[in-house]
Amino acid sequence: MTQDASAPAAPAADPDCVFCGIVAGTVPADLVHADDTVVAFRDLAPKAPVHVLVVPREHRRDVRELAAVPETLAHLVDVAGQIAADLADGDFRLVFNTGENAGQTVLHVHAHVLAGIAQTESDTGEL
Ligand code: AMP
Ligand code: ZN
Repeated sequence: MTQDASAPAAPAADPDCVFCGIVAGTVPADLVHADDTVVAFRDLAPKAPVHVLVVPREHRRDVRELAAVPETLAHLVDVAGQIAADLADGDFRLVFNTGENAGQTVLHVHAHVLAGIAQTESDTGEL
């Protein structure tokens, strides 16, 4: 197989990472999308009528690290839009908590897709 010397090395899965477990299928999750690059599943503690997390299959810590593979970041945003269109009216908030002081609790980059918000009075508040 030809290697692209400019592409960053794919990080190994982290055995202690819950989202690596969901990607591998060893941790149960309510999947709404899966492809070769990203997996999306419903948040355990939803803050909106539609609250889905989209994660790259590769273990990268946060969105700054994901920016090293911009095609994956772009694909993740595209999938977020598809989910909002399929499960709500197409409009959505996309949140990347980045760093523990910003509320990131799972250190495998994930986008919160929040949609269907206009249908309720709910305040997504702190994610
Ligand atoms: P953050 O605070 O941005 O790191 O968000 C982590 C999110 O992951 C929280 O909203 C949790 O509710 C959610 N979460 C943690 N474990 C799981 C899990 N096993 N399945 C689905 N969502 C999870
Ligand atoms: Zn991981």
